Amino acid sequence: MQKVPITAKLLVYVGVVLALCHCLAAWFIVRFFNSEAQKAFGAHLQDIAIIASETDHQTTADLCKNNLMTFHRITLNPNTGDFDIYEFGNEPEENGVIDSLKEKEIAKAIFNDFFNDPSLLVVTKELKLASNNRFAYAFVPGRNKDDCVSCHVSSGISLNYGKNELVAAFGVSASLEELYKREKKFMIICVFGALLLVSILGWIIQVVITKLKEVDKRSRMMLDSAPFGSFFWDEHFNFIDCNLETLRLFEISTKKELISRFFELSPEFQPDGASSREKAFEVISTAIKKGRCVIEWMHQKLNGELIPVELTLVPTNFSEGGNKDVIAYARDLRELKDKTAKLDVAEKMAFSDALTGIYNRRYFMQCADFEFNSQSDISTNIGIIMFDIDHFKKVNDTFGHDAGDEALKLTTITAGSALRENDLFARFGGEEFIILVKNLGLEGLANLATRICKKVENMEFFYEDTRIPITVSAGVTVRKNLAHNTEEVIKHADLALYQAKENGRNRVEIYNESS
Ligand code: GH3
Ligand code: MG
Ligand code: MG
Repeated sequence: MQKVPITAKLLVYVGVVLALCHCLAAWFIVRFFNSEAQKAFGAHLQDIAIIASETDHQTTADLCKNNLMTFHRITLNPNTGDFDIYEFGNEPEENGVIDSLKEKEIAKAIFNDFFNDPSLLVVTKELKLASNNRFAYAFVPGRNKDDCVSCHVSSGISLNYGKNELVAAFGVSASLEELYKREKKFMIICVFGALLLVSILGWIIQVVITKLKEVDKRSRMMLDSAPFGSFFWDEHFNFIDCNLETLRLFEISTKKELISRFFELSPEFQPDGASSREKAFEVISTAIKKGRCVIEWMHQKLNGELIPVELTLVPTNFSEGGNKDVIAYARDLRELKDKTAKLDVAEKMAFSDALTGIYNRRYFMQCADFEFNSQSDISTNIGIIMFDIDHFKKVNDTFGHDAGDEALKLTTITAGSALRENDLFARFGGEEFIILVKNLGLEGLANLATRICKKVENMEFFYEDTRIPITVSAGVTVRKNLAHNTEEVIKHADLALYQAKENGRNRVEIYNESS
């Protein structure tokens, strides 16, 4: 699982801010509609509502007051045939008639219409409200032509208009109706607002999830396409996850199999002899305590083929609660080791002789040059022994070239067995050998050469069941003058060797400066 990216976090914040804005806007709308509704309510006070008679006026007046209506009484004046409208409490004998032409006309129209067609007053039961103890009143919105009116009646009694008197309240019904309409509008806006908000939030969540999936997918692809295996352990050494390269490395087809057989993917013991299991616990806890570390590890495939890898262990805080996991990156070292091994062979071939395995002439000359050049005191002896197999051509001619090769190999081993570790022994060419010996005087050098001659002479060399006697002749010299370089000293040894050949072979001669 990935960390939430910054852009995704930003989107969540935007979503939350939008939600808060929506709440704020809804609150303002409610306030606005409330005040608008109140305004509308006031504006419609001139609308007409009729309150049926046959009620106690005081109760009706209370009802009107509770509903912000003005309570009027309308009466038919028998003398004039006209209608008089009184405000409640303002009886004609006290304050006189309200002489509003418009209201009078409306009242007249209502009165006539009402008598002509009482069904204009429609009783709406849903709007019935409980009122005082004596009477149950209800608002009854009705219609008189284009004007909206309200009446209230006592419960269970239909409108009583027998007394030629209507008691009217101005103002309520239209306001109520208007209010309902506005409430409806408000509801619609709220519903749409909520839908919009849900859509925006849904979109934001969708974007965040897509983004997270994208990041997760990208990281997974990066890991899977990496040219090294990488795997996760927790601190209890539970294997958690790995990339595809790990499966390829071990040639295992599923993660499940890899997880269940992970301990089989290391040999029981590492090359240093430590138990793989114990060492694994040790390196993981070291990585957790001390941080990133790089080690060499020997893995193996299920078929037992060994895979040397370089493991880079990196502790992480991926898990909750501060526990540390360890990610390991495994670099396959097989190819590298192979190349190194080949390079080793090539390097060895560059300075060793293919047949005998000892140093070749080129390497000997390099080392000898180094030794002679760094010699500062002639008393620290550097000597040379050159020896050559006697009548070697005859061996080849009589027993074949292969026999000659075998003789060369055995002579090398035999002569080598007389030498110390620090003596530089090389095949100088053909059947000729050379030895650089330090810290041995001329006498010691001659003794060494004699030992070699004796050893070779006593060597039991058989080729195809035939013993072939081998002897060597040697010439020895010690550098007597720092002015003599490598070639000159070798030449002296060669001259002594020539002398040995001359003097009968299978012998040692010391270089004589005067000769
Ligand atoms: P001398 O006692 O004077 O040294 O006589 P020699 O026969 O040993 O010397 P010569 O120089 O006449 O012959 C050397 C022979 O060594 C000739 C050559 O075929 C043989 N030879 C050189 N290198 C090899 C090799 O690697 N393998 C074999 N089998 N023979 C070699
Ligand atoms: Mg020879
Ligand atoms: Mg020779």
